[in-house]
Amino acid sequence: MNITEAKKQIMGKLELDDVNSGIFYGEWAKIEGRDTMVSYSPIDGSQIAEVTMATEGDYQKVLDRAQESFKIWRDIPAPQRGLLVKEIGNELRKYKTALGKLVSIEVGKTIVEGEGEVQEMIDIADFALGLSRQFYGLTIVSERPHHRMYEQWLPLGSIGVITSFNFPCAVWAWNAMIAAAAGDICVWKPSSKGALIAIATTKIVNRVVEKFGYPPLFFLVVGRGREVGEWMANDPALPLISFTGSIPTGKRIAENVAKRLGRTILELGGNNAAIVTDQTDMTIALRGVAFGALATAGQRCTTTRRLILHQAIYDEFLTKLKNIFEKVKIGNPLEPGVLVGPLIDEKAVENHLNAIQQAIHQGGKLIFGGEKANIPGLENGHYVIPALIEANPDMDIVKEETFAPILYVMKYRTIEEALEIHNNVPQGLSSAIFTNNLRDEEYFLSPSGSDCGIANANTSTAGAEIGGAFGGEKETGGGRESGSDAWKNYMRRQTVTINYGKDLPLSQGVKFDID
Ligand code: NAD
Repeated sequence: MNITEAKKQIMGKLELDDVNSGIFYGEWAKIEGRDTMVSYSPIDGSQIAEVTMATEGDYQKVLDRAQESFKIWRDIPAPQRGLLVKEIGNELRKYKTALGKLVSIEVGKTIVEGEGEVQEMIDIADFALGLSRQFYGLTIVSERPHHRMYEQWLPLGSIGVITSFNFPCAVWAWNAMIAAAAGDICVWKPSSKGALIAIATTKIVNRVVEKFGYPPLFFLVVGRGREVGEWMANDPALPLISFTGSIPTGKRIAENVAKRLGRTILELGGNNAAIVTDQTDMTIALRGVAFGALATAGQRCTTTRRLILHQAIYDEFLTKLKNIFEKVKIGNPLEPGVLVGPLIDEKAVENHLNAIQQAIHQGGKLIFGGEKANIPGLENGHYVIPALIEANPDMDIVKEETFAPILYVMKYRTIEEALEIHNNVPQGLSSAIFTNNLRDEEYFLSPSGSDCGIANANTSTAGAEIGGAFGGEKETGGGRESGSDAWKNYMRRQTVTINYGKDLPLSQGVKFDID
């Protein structure tokens, strides 16, 4: 299917035009008088549509309206807030195919990955519904007679969500659905590379909000990262900034938010490794490594970028993996059977080619792929052939995240050595071990094992479920979002002490007799 045909199927359904407002402050800001940016498809380089960008005045209007909405939303009982989120999940179910296809067109994911992204939004809405009845606090015993203590969790405020291009709507939903159940208002600055997806998503969810008669809860501010992103990071009206993106930008955001003592959730770059031991189910390991390295053309934060193979299976595993790399279908992600679509833009292609040159220069051996891929009829798309490189763990390039399908392969002898190689990078997002050996698996999960936020045994580094807390350590930023108790980030904790006695005993036995 070509882009023109795909566009015809979905643009009307998603209420998108040739020129779209990128600013939602309760109503859509007018198009006239604002700069626009063009959204291009990485599939064939064609223009999809134009989007207007926010001025500072627009941003201020968004923040003012968000504050007004918060005053109402925070007092709606959480289980009722959950019912709205449930309905958003149901509405998204109706648009799974159309929105999924837009994800394919605008950021180049395969059809199943695009729909999977929408499914993730639906899943987190279901999760947030359940959560809306479970914002539990502790009851604490008091040292003073006739006193009661407990903790309660209260809504935090308007929160800023800044997202990356590679999960153009799922990451927003991870934040927005939990935040809405928690009683917060969401101000979203999406990646400019996924602006149409953000507009379509905002339209879908706001229809539900309107139907319920609530004030606007999900605001949208499309604009340049260094403008809108900076306004948000520096704005004390946003007590929490949840940022998903690259490490350098994340560091900048962290500094700016810290200067005003705000909170951050940082979900930054990964440099994820899979260890394959000498006692492993080869079929599972090969499938898990291939999926981790190649899905989304290597543009997942959880992409497998390093492969650490036991010396006893090194040659056999690598030969079989090379075979998979040779056969995998690269091309138009709208076509069935294609597993590797385009990179997001030409800069990403350049980064891919440069990293490979650097790897070779630093002593790596290219054993497969690495060059640009020319797909007939899609000459203006941004395609590359995934690369397999035998590398040394001390090479500088191996320690960097190149957002492209490059897999560095390394050899180990003992499990201790494997973990040393594994942990020898600045990032700490996801990790995997493929083994049937209980001791190796448990070592990998022990305090001496993987130093990442996510550790998987016999499944890929990529493909997290929403039920767990998602995020990573070290330069990945330490943030946690989505499931488990990540909701606590979106609420403020209040410790409450109630004296129901006829006296005023003080803690620690302190006396303060005024008569
Ligand atoms: P990016 O850092 O280029 O952009 C991310 C967002 O930041 C965009 O919305 C962008 O407009 C905005 N931005 C740019 N400059 C800014 C500034 N000065 N202040 C505030 N915001 C600014 O990242 P990207 O290329 O869109 O995404 C790829 C990166 O994201 C990779 O490093 C990937 O690993 C990471 N990522 C991490 C996770 C995770 O959960 N850990 C998930 C997805 C992506």
